[in-house]
Amino acid sequence: MATKKFKTEVTDLLQLIIHSLYSNREIFLRELISNASDAIDKLKYLSLVDDGALKGFSFDPRIDISFTEDGKRTLTIKDNGIGMNEEELNGNLGTIASSGTRKFLSSLTDEQKKDSNLIGQFGVGFYSAFMVAEKIEVISRKAGEDKAWKWTSDGKSSYEIEEAQRDSQGTTITLHLTEDGYTYANRYEIESLVKKYSDHIAYPIYLEYDKVNYNYEKKDEKGEPGKTSEHVIEQINTCSALWRRAKSEIKDEEYKEFYKNNYYDSEDPLFYIHTKAEGATEYVTLFYIPAKAPFDMNYADYRPGVKLYVKRVYITDDDKTLLPTYLRFVRGIIDSEDLPLNVSREILQENRVMASIRNSSVKKLLSEFKKISENNPELYDKFIKEYNRPLKEGLYSDYANRDALLELVRYHSSSRDGYVSLKSYKEHMPSDQKAIYYLTGGKEETLKSSPLLEAYKKKGYEVLIMDDDIDEIVIGSVYEYDKLPLKAINKAGAMDDLKSEGDDNSSEEKKDLVEKIKKALSDKVKDVRLSSRLVDTPAVVVNDDNDPSAQMQRLMKQMGGPDVGDIKPILEINASSPLIRKIEESQDDEYVRKLSEIVLSSAMLQEGIMPDDPVAYTRAISELLSK
Ligand code: ADP
Repeated sequence: MATKKFKTEVTDLLQLIIHSLYSNREIFLRELISNASDAIDKLKYLSLVDDGALKGFSFDPRIDISFTEDGKRTLTIKDNGIGMNEEELNGNLGTIASSGTRKFLSSLTDEQKKDSNLIGQFGVGFYSAFMVAEKIEVISRKAGEDKAWKWTSDGKSSYEIEEAQRDSQGTTITLHLTEDGYTYANRYEIESLVKKYSDHIAYPIYLEYDKVNYNYEKKDEKGEPGKTSEHVIEQINTCSALWRRAKSEIKDEEYKEFYKNNYYDSEDPLFYIHTKAEGATEYVTLFYIPAKAPFDMNYADYRPGVKLYVKRVYITDDDKTLLPTYLRFVRGIIDSEDLPLNVSREILQENRVMASIRNSSVKKLLSEFKKISENNPELYDKFIKEYNRPLKEGLYSDYANRDALLELVRYHSSSRDGYVSLKSYKEHMPSDQKAIYYLTGGKEETLKSSPLLEAYKKKGYEVLIMDDDIDEIVIGSVYEYDKLPLKAINKAGAMDDLKSEGDDNSSEEKKDLVEKIKKALSDKVKDVRLSSRLVDTPAVVVNDDNDPSAQMQRLMKQMGGPDVGDIKPILEINASSPLIRKIEESQDDEYVRKLSEIVLSSAMLQEGIMPDDPVAYTRAISELLSK
């Protein structure tokens, strides 16, 4: 038997792990199972590709967990993977095998050493078991070799190696648990940890335990039910890393079952997207789109729906950085081959591999949505009914994918039922139309009956009806679609587009009328202008090009935004309407003032804006009517 000292960095690492990861010590089981699974992966691989002794090596991969109750306090994890010989035990468990880890460790300041998130980023692996064990025994036999070796340590400063017995290849790790660690030596704890972290390990994990059966028919002398105990070995993982299987081998039913079992949904998903990426970064993604938007989709503290795995080992589902916020309705899995197992959340955000997976996943999702919109409009309708709003958020927040998102979002229209795309809007444009027109700031019905639409209808121009509360904020940041400018028709400037040649002199002609109304409404409007876009309605209110709309002002106030002061509208009048003519003809200042105020208040009401003084408005109307 040889006693050897750990390399100093191992002693450091052990101290570090115990101090910074202790509150999360349950991860030890995940680490050991993951090592076991890696060891099986390696042997399997060699049995397939090795030129030498291991070619064609046949075995039934499995991982076995057992524990002793009472007294002895041990927990054992056994695999039949590649195993380790003496040299490898020294190299892997006596030093820190990875040079990256070593470098990282020596670069940490004392302050950083206290940060469990930083520590978590490298493979703490095997050593994490010392958080729950006062002594660890590893008996291992390398595949293709005759001798087995036993490595033993208390995790302080040294370990021992001696020859041992093991019938076949593989590794058996026995933890002599601390009093505290002993809480993990029971069936329920182990099953729940395996479910939580290792359910998708590709090899079966068996748990060996004594099952106690109670017999209530047959009571003992004390009147207690009769007890018999039975030794059982039971598989405790579902072993269903579905996403790792080839697409062609997975039935539609299996995809759906997997979704329903894992995402607590009784309905089938709308659709799913399974992607395997090979090359510079290797990963698999399996994304599902729920039929109904998750109930918490519009809460700030929504639960993210995508889980991150590294080599089939579950890492986290609590990470809002796996996909951008606007795709928070997506459910599914990202499984990377390249990330380190203990990648922490803080590190994830800056990790290059993760960033590249995330970018490609977003692109993939958006391009699949587009395909569905083209090939399966009925399905796309259902999709857009649930997810139009988050996609619109993306227009605002994901500049890099804005063009793709512009093809996906849908709006109501002044001339068609249902939803239209910008593409179809463009296709419907008459040849003289040079911009995309839209109207924001109210309910669909109010917007659709707005007098502002009159002139556009007359010209055969369609107007997009943007009735979602976020539309105005979002669309204001999108200046064009496919080289066409987007213009709000409730802005003063939009009117210029509708002028025909020869229209212009009228403003000179009606100068007196405009001045008259401006004087009557002096403190209530920013300006009064002659409109070329009204057909039947006496007047409309619009906003100066750079002013926010009334709806937007209200929203800004609600959200506690900066006080923009009292922004007044511009009144556009229709000189040929009888009501405006009355104003023009009257010489009575008081009558002109009253009529002008009624015109202004009515124009505001048409846009769903409450006049400042509704009582004065109704009183003025009654007075006029009774005259
Ligand atoms: P990591 O798994 O991150 O490399 P560990 O400290 O967990 O770090 O393990 C160190 C090395 O020990 C592994 O890379 C592997 O070569 C070896 N090892 C650990 N557990 C086993 C096992 N069950 N079977 C074979 N080799 C193992």
